[in-house]
Amino acid sequence: MKNCFLILMALFVGGRIHAAESPEKPMTSVAKPVTQVVAHRGFWKTAGSAQNSLSSLRNAQELGVYGSEFDVWLTKDDVLVVNHDAKIGKTIIEEATFAEMAAVLLSNGEKLPTLESYLKIGAKNKKTRLVFELKPHKSKERERRAAALSVALVEKHKLSGQVEYISFSLHACKEFRRLVPSAQVYYLGGDLPPAEIKRHGLTGIDYKMGVLRKNPKWIDEARELGLKINVWTVNKPADMRYFIGCGVDFITTDEPGKLCAMIDAKK
Ligand code: MG
Repeated sequence: MKNCFLILMALFVGGRIHAAESPEKPMTSVAKPVTQVVAHRGFWKTAGSAQNSLSSLRNAQELGVYGSEFDVWLTKDDVLVVNHDAKIGKTIIEEATFAEMAAVLLSNGEKLPTLESYLKIGAKNKKTRLVFELKPHKSKERERRAAALSVALVEKHKLSGQVEYISFSLHACKEFRRLVPSAQVYYLGGDLPPAEIKRHGLTGIDYKMGVLRKNPKWIDEARELGLKINVWTVNKPADMRYFIGCGVDFITTDEPGKLCAMIDAKK
């Protein structure tokens, strides 16, 4: 009887040891999300629209995309305006007053939008998120000012939950994170691995497609770290298919209608 007890104990202990020594189950990879569409500079490839115009935002809202991206600069006299390039004609936005640009018309005849006019349109449709790119400014001081004024305007229009911040400036990203700890903030630069983005406390990477093609492991690494992944600017069907297959969270595109159709067809 005593022997039987010892044999059972030995089997039990041995089993425990065996269980402890057995290799861990392979880490289950984090589930791939359904890719969402971000319209790059709005949905402007439509009759009568233009990049970064109010109509491009309205078009994106009507299409029902996840987000509409736009670019923001701060003028010398502290007015935030929506435009991609640093210059309009020969005028450098950062070095001009808003009054000096008041007569500027976009290619479709719309006025140069202020950020405030843009946010007012954004507020009319809560479903389309506003993907707010702050351009890198000439000094950290101006960038800090631009970030602070941006956040204040977003809060004034009660859009904190609808705006996501992106920037090529890591400094600007960190400013947004500091000012709004709960905000979604993505870095555009493409030069930092996901672990570094995690270390800075950002939401995710928003990288050029060539960067992610060259570093495909960054997609899995980002996902394992709980970071989100956006990729730009993906316009060709073959590239769209590739990144949908990778399971990126967002694709930023000049062809939001075509990308929506492709994603819908896969559902
Ligand atoms: Mg942009």
